[in-house]
Amino acid sequence: MTGEKYMEHARDSIDLNWEQQEPLFRQINEVGVQSYFENLPQIEQAFQLRDRGLRCIDERTPGGLHMAGSGILDQERAVKLVPEAQIDGIYSHEGCGAAAFFAKQAGLDVLQADNYGIEWAKKLAAETGVPYVDHRKVDKPFHYARVAYYDGTGRFNTDSVEGLPPGFVISRRFLDAQSALNELGIVRSIALGDHGFGLKFTPESPLLVVAVGDKNPSGNTSEKLLVEISELLKQSGKRVAGYGFTAPV
Ligand SMILES: [Zn+2]
Repeated sequence: MTGEKYMEHARDSIDLNWEQQEPLFRQINEVGVQSYFENLPQIEQAFQLRDRGLRCIDERTPGGLHMAGSGILDQERAVKLVPEAQIDGIYSHEGCGAAAFFAKQAGLDVLQADNYGIEWAKKLAAETGVPYVDHRKVDKPFHYARVAYYDGTGRFNTDSVEGLPPGFVISRRFLDAQSALNELGIVRSIALGDHGFGLKFTPESPLLVVAVGDKNPSGNTSEKLLVEISELLKQSGKRVAGYGFTAPV
C-alpha cells in the first residue's frame, strides 16, 4: 500500500471507530457522566489495579499507572515517581506519541521514536531497580480515545469493566498538579491532532476529560480536580469538556 492509500485506509477506520462509539457517547450525554459511570455493573472493579507497572498515558496501554512515554518527557519526575508510586515494572509501547514528541524536541529521527522509547524505559528501569517488562503492541495504529481520565485516586483501570470507554489515563494521584496538567496538555494535542479523532471533536461532541475523584472529602475529590484543570479547559475552547466522577469505593 502506498503512503497515501494507507492514510486513506486509516482515515476510513478512524471514521468507522468514531461511529461505533456513538451510541455509548449518546448514552453518556443523556444520563450524565457521574450517573453513567457509577451505574456500570461492577464499577468497583475499575478501582483495583492488577499490577503497578508504569506505562504510557496512551489509551491503548491500559492497566497499572501512567506517565506519557513512561516518563520520557519528564524524566526527573519519573525517577521520583517509581518509588513513590511503588512501581513494579516499566513498559514501552509501539507507536508512542510521547516518544515521537521527545525525538522531535531533541532533534532526533522521529521514525526511530519507538527505539528512544525502549531505550528510555530500560534506562528508567535500571536506574530505579525495577524490571523492564515489555514493548507492548497496540491494537490500532491510531488514537481512538474520546475520553481522558484525570485520575486522582491512583487506582483507576479502564479495561476491567464493560461499558467503560477507552481513554488516556493521567495518574494525577502520583504527580504534582503542574506535571499532571502538562500530561493533559499532551493528551489534548494527540487527541485533537492528526493521530487522533482530530476535527471530529466539536463543541457538540467534545473530548471528555473525566476527573476521577476520591470519595473521601479530604482526598483528591473530583471538585478539586475540576478546579485544577479549569484553566486548561478554558484555553481549549469548547472542543474539550470536563466532568467529575467520584469513585464509589
Ligand atoms: Zn505512548
